[in-house]
Amino acid sequence: MKNKLFFFLTAAFLLNAAVCFPQKSKPKNIILLIGDGMGLNAVTSSVYYLDNSQFRRFPYTGLVVTRSADNLITDSGAGGTSYATGNRTKNQSVSVDTTGKPMLTVLDYAKSKGLATGLVVTNSITDATPAAFYAHVVKRTDQARIAEYLLEDKVDVIIGGGQSFFLPKQLNGSRKDDKNIIDSLKARGYKVVFSYDSLKTIPDKDRVAALMAKVEMPKAKERGFELGDLSSIALHRLSLNKKGFFVMIEGSQIDSYEHVNDFNSAFDEIKDFNTAVKTALDFAEKDKNTLVIVLADHETGGLSITGGNFKAPVVSWTTKVHSAAMIGVFAYGPGAELFTGIKDNYQIGRIMFRLFGKNIK
Ligand SMILES: [Zn+2]
Repeated sequence: MKNKLFFFLTAAFLLNAAVCFPQKSKPKNIILLIGDGMGLNAVTSSVYYLDNSQFRRFPYTGLVVTRSADNLITDSGAGGTSYATGNRTKNQSVSVDTTGKPMLTVLDYAKSKGLATGLVVTNSITDATPAAFYAHVVKRTDQARIAEYLLEDKVDVIIGGGQSFFLPKQLNGSRKDDKNIIDSLKARGYKVVFSYDSLKTIPDKDRVAALMAKVEMPKAKERGFELGDLSSIALHRLSLNKKGFFVMIEGSQIDSYEHVNDFNSAFDEIKDFNTAVKTALDFAEKDKNTLVIVLADHETGGLSITGGNFKAPVVSWTTKVHSAAMIGVFAYGPGAELFTGIKDNYQIGRIMFRLFGKNIK
């Protein structure tokens, strides 16, 4: 009888607790995937024309206003900063505020809490989007300075291009000083490699910097591996950390081909990005403790599908630069329900911070 009463009271308490204090789910890991310049019509082209397009797998979607602090039309520096720091800044700036003061990034914060961190991109690792997560500069073009921020031991898995910004001129680099940042990375314990094949051979315990191109990687079709392959290497390594991880994976070159209004090449990059989204979702489905967020930093090209048929689109472009169009955000996993409605870009950063346990103002 006593047992029965105990059971009853416990059950009543739990039921009451569940009703009054719904457990807000928080992820252990966050995978943030950014399709640079991937506006809603780029997403549309994926959904209409790509076998195995991943976007329908997301239960929660929303829209994001992409403006920067000083411009209706953002660049990737300010766009990346709003996601990385939870605050807007001026175009050209990378994770400094509008007065030039460094701002904490979600990657910095994850690292300080003992999580593993990673960045996987197909352009230079010193480009504005990845830089927003680990560097603090007023001018995004200062890529030599940005490279030096990787010596702060905040990123465990570095995969991208950009050798040139790590080496002085006499070693075929583009640095104006005589610093060899690759040697400095090695001195800090990184295994530095320059190809996909060598990346695959690095033992799990080592921190890795894979700088696989002088500046940007070749276009998707000529790379010989997919962003999904790079992502699964990163996810394997990062998931060995018991406390969790934060990783930003970027389809960097979608934007590059939109800038020259080359739809076929941009679509190849969207297709390549899709492999990374699949890798992330498959991982999260198994893990059950991982939030996957897919979005863009801004739209590029004013891309529109104006004709064609069910097999192929006819597209039109309205600009060779970025546009002010809202972009889509897609979320899966614990906390995904927070990414609905219309959000300002900096709110995305604030939600990620909050899910990791920190409130940003
Ligand atoms: Zn761009």
